[in-house]
Amino acid sequence: MIEDGWLLSTNPATGDEAGRVPVADEKAVVAAVERAKAAAIWWQSIGFEGRKVRLLRWRTLLVERIQELAELAHSEAGKPVTDGIIEVTAAVEHLDWAAKNAKRVLGPRKVRTRLLLAEHSGHVEYLPFGVVGVIGPWNYPIVTPIGPISGALAAGNTVVFKPSEYTPVVGQWLADTFAEVVPEHPVLQAVHGFGDVGGALCRSGVGKVSFTGSTATGKKVMMACAENLVPVVIEAGGKDALIVDADADVSAAAEAAVWGSMTNAGQTCIGIERVYAVAPVYDAFVEAVVEKAGKLRTGQEIGPITMPKQLDIIRDHIEDALAKGGRAVLGGASSVQAPYVAPTVLVDVPADSSEMREETFGPTLTITKVRDADEAVEKANDTPYGLGGSVFAKKNGIRIARRLRSGMVAVNGTLTFVGMGNLPFGGVGESGFGRIHGEDGLREFARPKAITVRRAKSLLPAMTFERTPAQVQQIVKALRLLYGRKP
Ligand code: NDP
Repeated sequence: MIEDGWLLSTNPATGDEAGRVPVADEKAVVAAVERAKAAAIWWQSIGFEGRKVRLLRWRTLLVERIQELAELAHSEAGKPVTDGIIEVTAAVEHLDWAAKNAKRVLGPRKVRTRLLLAEHSGHVEYLPFGVVGVIGPWNYPIVTPIGPISGALAAGNTVVFKPSEYTPVVGQWLADTFAEVVPEHPVLQAVHGFGDVGGALCRSGVGKVSFTGSTATGKKVMMACAENLVPVVIEAGGKDALIVDADADVSAAAEAAVWGSMTNAGQTCIGIERVYAVAPVYDAFVEAVVEKAGKLRTGQEIGPITMPKQLDIIRDHIEDALAKGGRAVLGGASSVQAPYVAPTVLVDVPADSSEMREETFGPTLTITKVRDADEAVEKANDTPYGLGGSVFAKKNGIRIARRLRSGMVAVNGTLTFVGMGNLPFGGVGESGFGRIHGEDGLREFARPKAITVRRAKSLLPAMTFERTPAQVQQIVKALRLLYGRKP
């Protein structure tokens, strides 16, 4: 809600005000980007080492004030404080890894010379874009922006961050605490408002945009960025699947399925929404899931649904699944009691129901019986999304994981790939493209620069009008010698 130029943030469980931030208009967004451009000159001048020490200071501040930040996320997004603490843990990991590895991954290095141009040495380095615009969602308001922010800042960019309208106070807290450890220049700024502010950021002269949010909004962001050929990273939604093979530890798989689908009340981009369990373990698995999920309490482990309009979507998906022949073995449509949704487990849900095809974003899970792992993979891949996934198996875990059409998979675990600073994170298909985190995530926020340096006179001068016909013949001879033999 906007009141007198202020964006009011409210607690989804109580409706109490969680804080307020000033709303930016287009002019304010452009001004923030101009300040960020000036700050980028200084930020780049202090080099990898100067940035590393400052990013690590911010990392330590997050650790020292972890409780405060988790409580802020609780009051604004409704998530249990313990979930907030786990979220900060992942954010700290990404900040630490990016700060410590940026120089190795992006710094200048020599590449091996190629024989045809042996008189030149080759060099590559990765240069920052200048200012990166980061647009973030509300469901993980700490780690989803800190992933791209860590990569962008470590690479030498400054950042203008547009948090979701549902979590602006956490977003402002991140910018304010960064300014405490880097008071010299506005290296990380937050701008607030609704989607139009995100759109203005795309058109404000930033060098790159990192977007995390829904697929539909991702397409709008791409269109806005296309106007000025601004490159984008799109981290969008998912409909992730968990596969349980015949030799899986069924109890561990059930624990992971319940955590993966119901943590953060199911409002997780890489949350497990579908399970495919092979026939021999299906009954035991369903029983274990129902037993574990049945113990979760709304208002305790299961927080409120942050976005009120999502409640209708969750109810619609459950009703559609039941109307098409699905059965609720735990909960059901009556589980939706605003602002909460109690754990709901559905079986026999047809593949064409919205619960199986669209992102539900609530604490619901469908379990489907399949013949074998091949059928499980085929059904898991039958979605336009492709973000994460999970496999429980002893013998064939990695083999099955490789066949899932997704950016990440956890074997005998779930969501774990988001907690490792050295692994790339991102999806395929409608889940987006580009990567945050790890080496790929650092390179995403820099452009490669290639340099050749002459170190001797050319014996076979190819790139000059002054070559002779004899030299051209020699070049052809050299080419035949080097590459003329059939493999
Ligand atoms: P939205 O797509 O609704 O919003 C994401 C951000 O984009 C918000 O800051 C929003 O602002 C902003 N925005 C809205 N319209 C525009 C526009 N036209 N131009 C530019 N920016 C705009 O997503 P949610 O916030 O609802 O987040 C949930 C979604 O995010 C789910 O689909 C989830 O799967 C996905 N997600 C993906 C992740 C990943 O890494 N792949 C991680 C976490 C979530 P405002 O809030 O003011 O509308």
